[in-house]
Amino acid sequence: MGSPLVSPAGAVVAAVVLFAAVSPATAFPSGLPPGAPPFPNPWAAFQNLSGCHMGEERPGLAGLKDYLSHFGYLPPPPSSSPFTDAFDHDLEAAIATYQRNFGLNATGTLDAPTVSQMVSPRCGVADVVNGTSTMAKGSHGNGRHLYAYFPGSPTWPPFRRDLKYAITATSATAIDRSTLSDVFARAFSRWAAATNLRFSETASESDADITIGFYAGSHGDGEPFDGPLGTLAHAFSPTDGRFHLDAAEAWVAGGDVSSASSPGAVDLESVAVHEIGHLLGLGHSSVPEAIMYPTIRTGTRKVELESDDVQGIQSLYGSNPNFRGVTPTSPATSSREMDSAAGEGRRPDGVFVFFVGAVAAVGLLLAP
Ligand SMILES: [Zn+2]
Ligand SMILES: [Zn+2]
Repeated sequence: MGSPLVSPAGAVVAAVVLFAAVSPATAFPSGLPPGAPPFPNPWAAFQNLSGCHMGEERPGLAGLKDYLSHFGYLPPPPSSSPFTDAFDHDLEAAIATYQRNFGLNATGTLDAPTVSQMVSPRCGVADVVNGTSTMAKGSHGNGRHLYAYFPGSPTWPPFRRDLKYAITATSATAIDRSTLSDVFARAFSRWAAATNLRFSETASESDADITIGFYAGSHGDGEPFDGPLGTLAHAFSPTDGRFHLDAAEAWVAGGDVSSASSPGAVDLESVAVHEIGHLLGLGHSSVPEAIMYPTIRTGTRKVELESDDVQGIQSLYGSNPNFRGVTPTSPATSSREMDSAAGEGRRPDGVFVFFVGAVAAVGLLLAP
C-alpha cells in the first residue's frame, strides 16, 4: 500500500495475508503442470506471468500491479485509469525493489524465483511505505536492525502492562471455546516470557484491551476477509487491540498441523503468536525464522520467538529478568506449501528492514 490504511478508530492497521486453505476435495487437482502450486491460491495466476519482462504486454499484469500496489511497490492507480497489462518502467522498478527486499536477484523481470515468492502466502502489511522501501534498504550498518516497528512506534503505555484479552467472536468457527482459550493463552505466553507484559483472558469485552474474533468476509473494519486462501488474519497496532482471524481458513487448533488432513491447514497458534506481535507494536521482520516474518507455511508450526523477535519486543517493553533466552531456531521443514523461493532468496546476513513511514494494509485486493 502506498498510503497508510487507517481504521475508523484512527489506528494503523497491521494485517496479514498469510495464507490460505482449501478443501481437500479441491486441494490437489490433477493435471497441474510441474511447479504449479499444490493447491489454488488467489495469486496462482501470477505463475502464468513467469518470464515476463519489460516491454511486453501480457494479460494478468494489471493484477500483478494491483498486488504490488497493495504491498507498497506501486502507488495506487487513479480511479479513472486502472492498471494496464503493459510491462512498463514503473513495473520493472517495482519488481526490482521487491526482489531486493526478498533477497532475490534484482533483475526487474518476472523470473521464476520471483514469481514463486510472489505467489507464496504472506502478510498484508506493506513492504514499501510512501515510496520508501522499508525492507533491505532500511537496514542499518551491518544489518543489525532486523525487526521493525509501526510508524511512530506505537506501544502500550507503561501504565498498561497487564493486558486483558477477550475472545469475542467465535460463532463463525467450529473450534470449541476451551481449545481457543488454550491456544491464545499459549500464544500470549510467548511474548510474556520475554517481557514484563502480562496477559490474561477476560470474559468481558468491555474489560478487554485486546479482542479476538473469527470473521468471514466483510466484518466492519474495511478489511474484508477473502475466504479460503489469501488473507488469514490481521491485527491492529497499539493501542487498538483488535485481532481478527478469517473464519474460512482450515485452522488447526490442536494436534499436529503437519499431519492435518487438509493440505491448506494453518496452525492457529502460530498465526496467533505473529498477530500478537502486531498487537504489541512489532511490524514485520525479514528474518525467515522470525515469528514476525510475513509468511507462514501451511502444515507448519512456528510458535517460538526467534532472537530477532525478542530483541524487537524487548526494545519496546524491556526484558523479563526471568527470560531464559531463545532456543536455537530449527528451520521449519514440514510444509506442503508450494513456495520454496522464500528460502532460496534469503540473504545469509539476514539484511533487513525498518518500517519508517506509515503502514500497512490488509485484505486481498486481487480477484481470484
Ligand atoms: Zn504480520
Ligand atoms: Zn478485521
